Amino acid sequence: MIDHAAAREAMVARQIEARGIINPALSAALREVPREAFIPDSLAAFAYDDSPLPIEAGQTISQPYIVALMIDSAGVMASGRALEIGAGSGYAAAVMSRIADRVIAIERHAELARLAAARMARLGYHNVRIVHGDGSAGWPDEAPYDAILAAASGSHVPDALKAQLAIGGALVMPIGAAHVVQSLVKVVRVGEEAFEQEDLGAVRFVPLIGAEGWKG
Ligand code: SAH
Repeated sequence: MIDHAAAREAMVARQIEARGIINPALSAALREVPREAFIPDSLAAFAYDDSPLPIEAGQTISQPYIVALMIDSAGVMASGRALEIGAGSGYAAAVMSRIADRVIAIERHAELARLAAARMARLGYHNVRIVHGDGSAGWPDEAPYDAILAAASGSHVPDALKAQLAIGGALVMPIGAAHVVQSLVKVVRVGEEAFEQEDLGAVRFVPLIGAEGWKG
């Protein structure tokens, strides 16, 4: 038997906190969400490895450290509202749901959206809504968001996403073409029409495919 609980504790200590992400609410959320429930059964032994893993539909579940870095950088907080574009397995959305009040996560692959929604139901994470569709222009219905995460790499930061940020809110998104090193960009809405942008470093994500991303 694999001791997932022990592996999860070690993951938070070694991959997240030892690398300088000191965020008690985030650490608690990462200790709560079973990553093994978000990957194919055949990969369960690797659930807490320090790496991304392949999931259904040829996509990937992000490395835990990158999930933590994005959630921390976007300032996902208690009583806030968060949007994720590229729900994939649903893992990052599940972690956010343990911190924020409400999470909307959009996924373009129907199979992934269905699996992610089933996982949320099974785990009782009722404050997450998984939407199937192109999320590259966000989800205006529940805007504004205190935090927006894009888990797929775009050609630019869509204006539609910036417009759905609350003032004081932040968006974190990889920018760059597929199969090359991309930049993880953070945009903070500091006023009605004022945004500040910062580069958080090099990352590798699957492409954001859609109206405001790359052509599929
Ligand atoms: N956060 C996810 C990582 C998913 S990988 C996790 O924790 O598992 C990125 C996902 O973005 C892929 O599943 C891909 O299908 C999806 N994606 C790409 N372009 C998209 C778009 N325009 N709208 C919604 N999802 C998109």
